[in-house]
Amino acid sequence: MTPVDLRSDTVTRPTQAMREAMLRAEVGDDVYGEDPTVNALQERLAADLGFEAGLFVPSGTQSNLLALMSHCERGDEYIVGADAHTYRFEGGGAAVLGSIQPQPIPQDADGSLPLDKVEAVIKPIDPHFARTRLLTLENTWMGRTIEFGYLARARELATRRGLGLHLDGARLFNAAVAYGRPVREVVAGFDSVSICLSKGLGAPVGSVLVGSASLIERARRWRKVTGGGWRQAGMLAAAATYALDHHVERLAEDHARAARLAEGLGRIDGLAVKGCHTNMVFVDVPAERLKDLAAHMSKAGVLLSIGYLPQVRMVTHIDVDDEGVERTIAAFASFSY
Ligand SMILES: *Cc1c(COP(=O)(O)O)cnc(C)c1O
Repeated sequence: MTPVDLRSDTVTRPTQAMREAMLRAEVGDDVYGEDPTVNALQERLAADLGFEAGLFVPSGTQSNLLALMSHCERGDEYIVGADAHTYRFEGGGAAVLGSIQPQPIPQDADGSLPLDKVEAVIKPIDPHFARTRLLTLENTWMGRTIEFGYLARARELATRRGLGLHLDGARLFNAAVAYGRPVREVVAGFDSVSICLSKGLGAPVGSVLVGSASLIERARRWRKVTGGGWRQAGMLAAAATYALDHHVERLAEDHARAARLAEGLGRIDGLAVKGCHTNMVFVDVPAERLKDLAAHMSKAGVLLSIGYLPQVRMVTHIDVDDEGVERTIAAFASFSY
């Protein structure tokens, strides 16, 4: 029995057609800027999103790090959600490697940062303070889309206060599908955007950072410095390009399966469904039952990620089908809470 792997949408494996596209890829040395498949991916995503340039990098963590290091210098500061990936889940990279101070603030329920609080933490220009340079948002955050109108208000604040605006758009395409808007509209106000190809889009590796030509030039330098200069990366870029061509619209299926999962789980006594947003479902299970639940589920062929968050998070993706969703609901139903 193939397990249903709901731990994350990073677990997807390349489809046969994607592997064939990888085999056919023309390659060159990307550190010399000579990999045609990488160059085409970068140009295409930048153009699709309305930016001057793009940079293909190994991971979303590196993409965000390069963005922070390209917007900010040593002694600068970025304002970030206290539960945002760029603050909590990236090993403190901006501080460790960039000498950039994070200024975290609590997020609203949709993941946005209350703009009055953002404004209140912007530091005066004075030697006592770090120089506040950048506001970073995340969309989707924990599967949630930020209220669409907020994005323009954040842009207005950033412009008025002279801040850059970066988006951690690891799951940007899930957001666009959920809004029912072209992805370009979702990123219209941002100065830079990081997109993961290796999550719901199903590529094996890779993220792209887009921004102005000068920002991407700085990011390219930091990519090399942090050891991310890669060579014949075109085979990976081919997978990413395949994903953009074939796996964007189907994200709606992942969202529908998450909704079906939440609905089925909602009928089970003792299990509280706490949320269902885009491709993620969150449930509350009594803490003392979590270990037994994980063992029970794994016996039933369902893999869950337990321990990173107070709730159990399940993520649908291209390798989860209807049967997998029904098997998951049945397995949850046969557990005593
Ligand atoms: C996964 C993720 C990242 C980082 O991507 P990696 O490729 O795992 O380093 C950044 N931000 C968010 C919101 C993510 O979900």
